[in-house]
Amino acid sequence: MSTHSSIITLSVATLIAATAQAASTGQPFYGDAPDATHPWCVHDWNRPQPPRVEPKPLVDAKSPADAVVLFDGTEASLANWEAEKPQGEPTQWVVKDGALLCVPKSGYIRTKSTFSDCQLHVEWAAPTPPQGEGQGRGNSGIFVEGAVECQVLDNYDNPTYADGSACSIYSVCPPLANALRLPGEWQQIDITFRRPVYEGDKLVHPGYATIYCNGILVQDKTQLEGGTGHKGRSLPGPLPEAGPLKLQDHGNPVRFRNIWYRPLPPRVAADDEGIHGPMSEQETAAKRKEIAAMVRAAAAKLPAQSLDQSLRLAESLVYEKDEAIAKSVIALAAKTTADAKQLPADKIESQKNDVKRVWDAMKYLTTFKIIDPSEAAWTELDGIVKSHGWDKH
Ligand code: MG
Repeated sequence: MSTHSSIITLSVATLIAATAQAASTGQPFYGDAPDATHPWCVHDWNRPQPPRVEPKPLVDAKSPADAVVLFDGTEASLANWEAEKPQGEPTQWVVKDGALLCVPKSGYIRTKSTFSDCQLHVEWAAPTPPQGEGQGRGNSGIFVEGAVECQVLDNYDNPTYADGSACSIYSVCPPLANALRLPGEWQQIDITFRRPVYEGDKLVHPGYATIYCNGILVQDKTQLEGGTGHKGRSLPGPLPEAGPLKLQDHGNPVRFRNIWYRPLPPRVAADDEGIHGPMSEQETAAKRKEIAAMVRAAAAKLPAQSLDQSLRLAESLVYEKDEAIAKSVIALAAKTTADAKQLPADKIESQKNDVKRVWDAMKYLTTFKIIDPSEAAWTELDGIVKSHGWDKH
């Protein structure tokens, strides 16, 4: 425990500013764990929120003369689109007051035409009054090439994990700023998209996206690693030579208008300047150390020896190894099992939540081999939880 206490003392002294930024109220043990070139988990609530920046005023964004117009407010332009499933069927999204309206539960919509490298303009507006919170409020998505999601979300006054904010490259990179207008107002999104180009297994041109939200730069030539998904880390790999533009049905009646793109010429020269690519292993290790210290400093402020404190310390292992903390987490799992075994059948249900919290943490830490999955304390705890069917709900 002495190693562990000295880390906490050091952290409190040096990282007060970082701790103040940390959003610690979200769900830990959720998306993919950090690795050698990514210091944060996917959907990590410890990752700082994008700073608020006031957007520029609404401008007339009529399509330029050489643009391919995908939706211009008319019923006729709805013919450019189809349902994703079953593919080729007419979409159930509707045109209302010059806007393309998502009809919840009708599924994604996709363009009939396909394209790749482009300058893309999309405007969207969230439903008013706002309903739901977090990822449940005004959620949709702009999927370039049908694969890379520029998140659409009403997080005007609605915190969520940073890499799921509006104009994040979902699960990959938070926006540089939150430049949203009020819910119901039109948000103007401009995207420059370049797909990664491979020759065989060799990456010859990195893919990237530059995004402006209401005139504010929010993705600065952010390197793409591949298609994006929920909870999973985007893995480097080729994208198709062309794909449809897809808009997401996430269950919210989000509106769209003024959708157009300009195809960009293929790249001919190596383009390796100014790309915000994956971090080096050294940079990542330093950042992970800093995040672990921030989480441990936050743990130090919780009631000593409490379950909250123990689990917050367990969370810090996700970022950086610490033998003393790992031992204490294993001991916690063993104690949780022993206590649960001693309880009479009519009392055990009252301990379910605490047991499950420890189980959730251990499940994550063993899944990502942060704690050895063959550790007896884990197999016994897992056995207890499964014997009560608590792993199911
Ligand atoms: Mg979405």
